[in-house]
Amino acid sequence: MSPIAIAGAGIGGLTAALALATRGFRVALFDKAARLEETGAGIQLSPNAMRVLNALGLRERLMASVVAPDAVLIKAAHGAELARLPLGPAAEQRYGAPYWMIHRGDLQAALLDAALAHPGIALTLGAAVDGCAEKPDGIAVQVLRGEHPEAHDAAALIGADGLWSRVRALAGAGDTARFARRTAWRALVSADAVAPDFRAPAIHLWLGRGSHLVHYPVKAGAMINIVAIAADAQPSHGWSTAAPPDEVLTRFSSESWARPARDLLALPERWLKWPLYDRPSRPHRGRGAVTLLGDAAHPMLPFLAQGAAMAIEDAAVLAGSLAATPDDAPAALRRYEQARAARTVRVWRAARLNDAVYHLPWPAAAARDLAMGAMGGDRLLAHYDWIYDWKMEL
Ligand SMILES: Cc1cc2nc3c(=O)[nH]c(=O)nc-3n(C[C@H](O)[C@H](O)[C@H](O)COP(=O)(O)OP(=O)(O)OC[C@H]3O[C@@H](n4cnc5c(N)ncnc54)[C@H](O)[C@@H]3O)c2cc1C
Repeated sequence: MSPIAIAGAGIGGLTAALALATRGFRVALFDKAARLEETGAGIQLSPNAMRVLNALGLRERLMASVVAPDAVLIKAAHGAELARLPLGPAAEQRYGAPYWMIHRGDLQAALLDAALAHPGIALTLGAAVDGCAEKPDGIAVQVLRGEHPEAHDAAALIGADGLWSRVRALAGAGDTARFARRTAWRALVSADAVAPDFRAPAIHLWLGRGSHLVHYPVKAGAMINIVAIAADAQPSHGWSTAAPPDEVLTRFSSESWARPARDLLALPERWLKWPLYDRPSRPHRGRGAVTLLGDAAHPMLPFLAQGAAMAIEDAAVLAGSLAATPDDAPAALRRYEQARAARTVRVWRAARLNDAVYHLPWPAAAARDLAMGAMGGDRLLAHYDWIYDWKMEL
């Protein structure tokens, strides 16, 4: 049998490669980048994602660099604590897997090391998937290495090639990604530089008027990941462009934002800027032996911290579906798409809802703060049980 070809060795593509190889498939993994480098930022790995990573044997490898938060602390921009959602051992018991925070580079290194160590996975860098043609027994995948096209026979092609997916276009989807009129500014600072309570193992979520702020420790507590999100009329050109500190501070003015939040925002000498996009929440359907996963299939706003988690879940379900009918890849891919449709649309919608709630103007923002305070952390966490308690179904 020909290998399964995967376009893109990001979090989704690497997890899919491991999930498929674990089930006995050979995998040809291509990434257009000459080197795999994750942006210098943190990522939250919720229990639904961790359940998959644990099953792939990554728990021990990740443990050295993660931080396990005790709680999510929701605060009003003026500093009052609104709610404390309990995580830590209680959440691990509740959901059967931990809630962890990690530097993206550490997650990628763990996935990449495991992929490189697996004899069933062949990774080629500097190789952009650019075309494909159906064949009676699979698919011919065209890969550009520099100027040179190469043809690779595969049993199926999985587009894990991110928001601006080329495979999505090859599969016939005509829609384009939409700028959400918000930008995320990201930075990492040394934990020694911040106030002691910001070094504690917790996720801090500050809600303002039209803007919000998230920060948490990564790198086993040595660094603090900061994400500041506010309205922006135009997207910056490209991802991960540098932004001066003033650009962030002017959006988090002292009129609304408490001193500790502004002190934290004043620390980074360098910010990276991330215009935020998603696509309409239509379930994705591939074509023949081609399908999509992760951001290529269903990019979503990051206000639920679930984009990578959905890519990781996709990878597990896709591998399970292909293993069920290895001789009929198109049928397996349609079953996978069907199995993922309702959940990914629901998570997409919940992220959009959080966008509205987190960025309310005054006075609705004040009403939101009162409502969150009244609801309390346990009830707010229970609200997300359907996300974190996910178990694989086919
Ligand atoms: C501010 C912010 C915070 C976030 N926080 C979280 C969080 O806490 N938790 C969470 O779960 N998610 C979070 N997300 C979402 C998460 O980052 C993404 O959903 C996730 O990285 C998507 O992974 P992916 O593998 O699908 O795509 P990508 O990471 O975009 O990887 C795509 C890969 O494909 C390669 N590629 C592109 N085109 C081709 C081609 N033609 N051929 C071959 N290779 C190609 C690229 O080089 C890249 O390596 C956040 C996002 C943002 C913007």
